[in-house]
Amino acid sequence: MNSFSVVPWIILGSSCFFAIFFQNQRPAKPKAFRGKTATQIVCSSRAYPAAPNIQKERSSQGTIRKLTSNHLTLYTDLPSTPAIDDLPQFFDLAVPEWTEYFQLPPTRLDQFHLTAYLMKDSQRFAEQKMFPKTLPDFIAGYQLGDEIWLYEQPTDYYRRHLLLHEGTHGVVKYCFGGAGPPWYSEGIAEYLATHTLTQTVSASGKVKRKISLGQMPDSNEKFLHWGRFKMLNDSKENKGVRSLDQIFAFDSKTHYRENDAYAWSWASVYFFENHPLTQKSFRKLAAKGKDRSAKFSQQFRKKHAKEWHLIQADWKVFIDHLDFGYQFAPMVITHREPTTIVTTEGRAVIAADRFWQSTGLRLEGGKRYRLQASGRYQIDTLPDIWWCEPGGVTLDYYRQRPLGQLMGILRPLSDTKILSDRSTKERRKHTDEEARTTLPPSTLFVIGTSVDITPQYDSILYCGINEKPNQWHDNHGELQILVSLIE
Ligand SMILES: [Zn+2]
Repeated sequence: MNSFSVVPWIILGSSCFFAIFFQNQRPAKPKAFRGKTATQIVCSSRAYPAAPNIQKERSSQGTIRKLTSNHLTLYTDLPSTPAIDDLPQFFDLAVPEWTEYFQLPPTRLDQFHLTAYLMKDSQRFAEQKMFPKTLPDFIAGYQLGDEIWLYEQPTDYYRRHLLLHEGTHGVVKYCFGGAGPPWYSEGIAEYLATHTLTQTVSASGKVKRKISLGQMPDSNEKFLHWGRFKMLNDSKENKGVRSLDQIFAFDSKTHYRENDAYAWSWASVYFFENHPLTQKSFRKLAAKGKDRSAKFSQQFRKKHAKEWHLIQADWKVFIDHLDFGYQFAPMVITHREPTTIVTTEGRAVIAADRFWQSTGLRLEGGKRYRLQASGRYQIDTLPDIWWCEPGGVTLDYYRQRPLGQLMGILRPLSDTKILSDRSTKERRKHTDEEARTTLPPSTLFVIGTSVDITPQYDSILYCGINEKPNQWHDNHGELQILVSLIE
């Protein structure tokens, strides 16, 4: 494979969008690379406003229409439809959302204005000198300074998504002078482009519309052609789960070569944006956008060095269960300190409205314990309340297990000092490594009403009920667990 064979994926990179319908049919090799380096072709790589001045060369002739709003001038060769003609107004609705997300002064984006070319046939735009020959070949979208080029997309949702993605690149450049390293640049554009559009009509008949950026898709129907979950699932199956550090290490060519890099970048940004340990510091990263180096990510990681292994554990849970309607807060692991060594028996209470929770109970490696659970809790409300006990209900299943069934995981301790009579250098090495790498869900086991276990390592017991990641909101109640040392 020569170096130019990556160009189609570079174009996807600049467009970012995507392999969903190109995965089975790679685009033809572009006719020329036009002497640009891969780095230069990144859609967000040019400093604002370095775009060539082609405004004067435009012609009013031909089939290209011009639509305008406060923040967008849109040229398109697509026929007039409500969804197309509404795009400039839709774009304007995003401006206060960007202002709020990036915590900008209220008037910071008053003068922000992009020119967009929404194209069915790029040749028409080339004839009108709206498609400079200096642009690289691309499949979906490309941003350069204060101009963006977009190819027509198969759905109304995805056309808006593409506009918001490139628009986010534009905003970040306009406000911060850069968009950070590739994972952040593409991840934040993907995150903010994933949107909902709602419309309400008042009693007087006045229509009010609102877009909300940074949404977790709750159904395929509302996010047609988005496809990131499938992309992630395929990637996990073929290449395994990407760690956060691997995502940080995406270079300027990764997104060109591998479409799934966009999905991983989106997932990491959604994760940091919603995780209680990282949300605050993550929001401040945009202001450091001029720094495209590894330092950008290293500093962020360093800030969270103490809890990084916990963040990594949550990342594994997030990626393992990510699906439409994923409810982030109840899926974050609850840790509990201090913990108690189970010498004869220990007790803990587990809430039914969130996933993994530390029992605070420490079990010794090599010893045998009996875990017994009891309690009655609610796991659904339709058509009536579903009462459940630790064995679960067989009316519904998640991952081949009864809904509501109590499960456990053992988190090996990184510090075995308190169990010094059993500690050895080798064992410490093992548990240190285990604590950081073998976190949930790899050690999952079913507790139900009773189970006997023999932990391999000194560990903390975590428990949680089996529930769909989008169904925690109607859960209520708690259950009790008793842990007894058998031998
Ligand atoms: Zn992009």
